[in-house]
Formats: sequence, C-alpha cells, structure tokens
Amino acid sequence: MNHRSGEQQLRAWARLWKEVRPAPPHAVEATALGEYAAVRILEGPTAAARRFPEIARHLDEGCERCEADLKELVVFLDGERQPQPDPHERWLPTVLALAWHYGGVNTAAFRIAEYPELVLQGVESGGDTQLNLGIRLRTDEVRLRVDGWELRVADADGQERFRGVTDAHGALRLPGISVPDLIHARLEVKPPVGTEGD
Ligand SMILES: [Zn+2]
Repeated sequence: MNHRSGEQQLRAWARLWKEVRPAPPHAVEATALGEYAAVRILEGPTAAARRFPEIARHLDEGCERCEADLKELVVFLDGERQPQPDPHERWLPTVLALAWHYGGVNTAAFRIAEYPELVLQGVESGGDTQLNLGIRLRTDEVRLRVDGWELRVADADGQERFRGVTDAHGALRLPGISVPDLIHARLEVKPPVGTEGD
C-alpha cells in the first residue's frame, strides 16, 4: 500500500512538472500550425504536407503537443466552416392523409403532424398543382396564419424540386408538379416566422 502510494505520488509530481515547466523552444510555431490545419481541412493532408513539409515531418515524428494542438485547430476551423443553423430553419414533414382522384379532380390532402388544425390540400389542373393551406375551425386556435408558410417539395432522394411561400389566401402554385408527383415526393413545410411560441 505504502509502495503504491509512493508510485502514485511520483506520477502526480511528473504530471505537475509537465504542466509548470517552461515550454521548450518549439520547431513549429502555433501560427504556422494553424495555416497547416487550414490547408489540411480545405485541400487535404497531401496538399498540406506539400505546402508545409517541415510541419508534416515534425508531426510524422510524433510530437504529442502539436498533435493535440492540431486536433483542436481542426475542430475549431471545421466548426467555423459549417454554416450556422438558421433558428427558423425548421422544416416539418407532411403526411399524406387522403386519396386523390376525387370528384373528377386530382386532389390530395396532407397533414402537418405538429399543426393538426391545418389542412393542406393539393388540387391539380393542367399539370400544375395548386396547394391551399386552410385552418380547420374545430379548435379555439385561431392565431395560426395561412400566409407565409414555406413549402418545399423534394424527390425521394432529397433533390429539391420546388420551394415557395403561401400567399395571403394560403395558396401556392407548384408549376409542373402533378398531384401524383406530389404524393411520391417529400413535402415539407416551414411555419411563418412568429407562428411558434407566441
Ligand atoms: Zn511539436
């Protein structure tokens, strides 16, 4: 027990020394490592090694300190590169509720799970589809607006085919998209700004 705690104490001293000792002069400057990291992210490790051969060699030799710094730099720079998420960028998938080919017109109705009081109806005419967003007046919830809803139509593989915003009457024309197209597509809506959390 005594022997073991002595060993632990030694280790603790070693750790402490590592933290308080003055940093040795270093082959690689922090700014150069930063440039290396940026090139490595944007153009890949081969390009970075070509531009900064001495840093690449130094890292190959296994410098823990630079390896750790590099890891942090990459996380930081990569984070900077990511587009910042728009707080209003919140798309809700719609769910097909009703069949089409009803009453001689191609129609389909969609529901937005998070807004059960909304009805989204697609009516096809001449190869285009008119979408109409309506509010079911079954509930007391009358604050919902039908205008300003952004609609996105994407193929099954996620390729966007159309994006538009409902007008004052909740209507939106989808040019060149039929109701069957719509049924097989991915239909998402984004509430108008200010609809949520009011
Ligand atoms: Zn180093």
